Amino acid sequence: MDRIYLDYAATTPAHPEVVKAMLPYFSHSFGNPSSIYGCGQEAKEAIEAARSSVAVLIGARDEEIVFTSGGTEADNTALKGVAYASGGKGDHIITSAIEHHAILETGHFLETQGFRVTFLPVDRYGMVDPDDVRRAITDKTIIVSIMHANNEIGTIQPIAEISRITREADVYLHTDAVQTTGHIPFSVDGLGVDLLSISGHKLHGPKGVGVLYIRKGTKMAPFMHGGEQEFGRRASTHNVPGIVGLGKAAQIALQERDEEAERVTRLRDKLIDSVLANIDHARLNGHRRIRLPNNANLSISYAEGESMCLKLDREGICCSTGSACSSASAEPSHVLLALGLDPLQAHSSLRFSLGKWTTEAEIDHVLEVLPRIVAKLRAMSPLLKSHR
Ligand code: PLP
Repeated sequence: MDRIYLDYAATTPAHPEVVKAMLPYFSHSFGNPSSIYGCGQEAKEAIEAARSSVAVLIGARDEEIVFTSGGTEADNTALKGVAYASGGKGDHIITSAIEHHAILETGHFLETQGFRVTFLPVDRYGMVDPDDVRRAITDKTIIVSIMHANNEIGTIQPIAEISRITREADVYLHTDAVQTTGHIPFSVDGLGVDLLSISGHKLHGPKGVGVLYIRKGTKMAPFMHGGEQEFGRRASTHNVPGIVGLGKAAQIALQERDEEAERVTRLRDKLIDSVLANIDHARLNGHRRIRLPNNANLSISYAEGESMCLKLDREGICCSTGSACSSASAEPSHVLLALGLDPLQAHSSLRFSLGKWTTEAEIDHVLEVLPRIVAKLRAMSPLLKSHR
């Protein structure tokens, strides 16, 4: 069996149609979209078509779509843009303890700039309580940022409910939808958000391109100063092939998303149910139902996550022990700790994230290999012996 890739939450392969759509913009239609001659205007038209495709996918207007260099830039821009435009009206930001580092670190940075940030706790399933948001809002609050679904544990947050609270309080609401866009249906009006982040490489688009949706009328300071690109909100010559690729990925997602979500959910449930039934001391992290269709995050006590991951890799299976960004660090995942897991349990976690090219045979193979790996590691584990 070839390599089995089960880390779609870290990144997805670009769809072949995406690559095909991008290619002409590296060579034949390479013009600068700000130029008035033919090949510049060709590039501009392609950008505007891509903008419409993304807008349709999330139910936005074209002029509310701002292309960025990825999800991280979109997250940074959302918080800093609102903070720097607040002009002394307020200095308080609310987010959650389980956000991606792109939000957490931006929050910590803004604290050094005189802003106050509340990091809300989550329950044992990783869910933010909307009442906690309500209680945390003060007359100094300028923005609430709660991710749509968590990249490690897959829990989907009650964003629409939170938006009713932020609307009432006249506070902006941002959501990091990097893991949900193109994977589950939603619209910006249905969620009631003012700002929303997207990353191309999580929905079979290219890396290095993303979107910040900015609802019309939202007061934002530009994050990049320079030219007038992107309605003056984001200077720099456009990444034309990247943007075209993201537009194509959005189109494909719209056609395939719902059927794909159903298929992947079935495989995910098979994986979760079989691991829980066949491996002792295994538990599911995140919510059993209100989770991303493709996410299975499991703690398997008395077996170290990194060792399982490396042994799976030797069998040709790619998965992760946490988010891709933190897997290089020895610190236990901040998300798993926020759920109430102790550091040992957090260190024994694996994240499988399924995708477009995951087959049932691949899942069956993982289910055959994993118990063997766990048994071997446990045979060497002093922790299990002392537990017995
Ligand atoms: N937000 C979430 C939830 C993510 O999972 C990621 C990527 O892992 C990002 C933001 C960052 O996106 P990008 O890699 O495009 O900067």
